[in-house]
Amino acid sequence: MVDEGLLMILICIFALMNDNMLKKIKELEKISLKLEPNAAARKVARKKVIEYTEGFLENIYSLKAYDLTEEKGKGIFSSPISDTPIEIDEAIKLVFDNVDTHGLNPASGGHLGYIPGGGIYYSALGDYMADITNRYAGIFFASPGAVRMENMLIDWMNGIVGYSKQASGNLTTGGSLANLIAVVTARDAHKIKSKDIEKTVIYLSEQAHHSIDKSIRIAGMGECVHRFIPIDEKFRIKPDELERMIADDKANGLIPWLVIAAAGTTDVGAIDPLDEIGDITHKYNLWFHIDGAYGGFFALTDEGKKLLKGIEKSDSVIIDPHKSLFLPYGLGVVLIKDKKHLYESHHYFANYMQDALKDADELSPADLSPELTKHYRSLRLWLPLKLLGIAPFRACLEEKLLLAKYFYDKIKNTKRFEVLLEPQLSVVVFRYIPEKGDTDAFNERILEEVHKDGRIFFSSTRINGKFMLRICVLAFRTHIETIDLALDIIIEKVELVKS
Ligand SMILES: *Cc1c(COP(=O)(O)O)cnc(C)c1O
Repeated sequence: MVDEGLLMILICIFALMNDNMLKKIKELEKISLKLEPNAAARKVARKKVIEYTEGFLENIYSLKAYDLTEEKGKGIFSSPISDTPIEIDEAIKLVFDNVDTHGLNPASGGHLGYIPGGGIYYSALGDYMADITNRYAGIFFASPGAVRMENMLIDWMNGIVGYSKQASGNLTTGGSLANLIAVVTARDAHKIKSKDIEKTVIYLSEQAHHSIDKSIRIAGMGECVHRFIPIDEKFRIKPDELERMIADDKANGLIPWLVIAAAGTTDVGAIDPLDEIGDITHKYNLWFHIDGAYGGFFALTDEGKKLLKGIEKSDSVIIDPHKSLFLPYGLGVVLIKDKKHLYESHHYFANYMQDALKDADELSPADLSPELTKHYRSLRLWLPLKLLGIAPFRACLEEKLLLAKYFYDKIKNTKRFEVLLEPQLSVVVFRYIPEKGDTDAFNERILEEVHKDGRIFFSSTRINGKFMLRICVLAFRTHIETIDLALDIIIEKVELVKS
């Protein structure tokens, strides 16, 4: 028997609790609805952001390429993350004052340092759309369209490097992650066991990008034997030396595993003899990885195609749309010749692997990379390609090759300048030889003055112990006027340092 009085009390308590809870839910909803600005509020914020970015674009050809400042954006800390919201104007001002006016301006055509970036406009619109619709790009089931879009782009790029339909790949955040995926795939494809790591050999050049070394370490392969293949006077791997090393290692009971070559080194833009290296890796059954983060997309041009002959002989390649396809930062690509290997290393439902390969319309990015949930990254590449076609990209790359040659010819023929070598892609390495005093110190001073000036930006490198100045022409906003300006500024700074 239930006591009716007690029951009534309990019901009342529950009703009260329920009432309180509903009240609380409504209160919370009212606050959380701020996450959903209405059309009018969206319009206000959007208008301000468009005003700001349009202002940036209107002035981009006169904005500094480099802003050397004292405070280096410290003011961002003056407005801590808190419960107090600020207006969009204030937020934009904080960004302008503390971010967009310090350091490198990668959107500038005057950016001739390292490997320049860019940031074509239609990519920004692609990101805007992607962020609003927020399609779940990791899995076919969740967004078949977004996955098809990614795979279609991957197919297109596989075609550029001469891979067949058997190839696959992944849109990553950049070249470093792309390299990591390739190294891990190579490790698993060759079934390297941990007990064999110390006997396993990697062949690479001293010119390899540091992200390769990082990838090897992260992949747990840091204790492999590293063989640095001698390079020729054009900084390219010597294939006969490579073959000799492999044969020696094999004879000595080691396990030759991975050869890493570059389609455009960062230092001088050298392209390793891919065709010959490909033949050697086939002969000895090694994994052949090509780092084309900088140079890969030059394969879109006739000249580049010739230079990159043999790229299709590799097992994996990385290319960086946020470098040589001028996209804003946040897009690298790994391509793997045999999709099976990429899948085997990165899928996460081991027991239905065969079915997934056979039955799914499309492979899902989540099975081809370390990521599960991923940004709908394809749209930032697809949209500009669709709106513009490939031709302007090809032309821009060809223009960059010629601009580098133009700069090379000019600087080579300028008194007291020394050039390292004719550009293979779009990097020129050079320095000034002063009449008296220390050459390294003089060139360091030139660079310092160029950075202080800021109209253009370039960087330096050390080649055979010598301090060298270095430009890389790759920003899509770099045109002949930029190169002429760079030449004028260099001469101006030489005079300044001399005085
Ligand atoms: C830039 C670069 C990388 C690294 O790519 P990120 O996109 O910067 O991560 C790797 N290799 C080469 C040759 C590069 O130029």
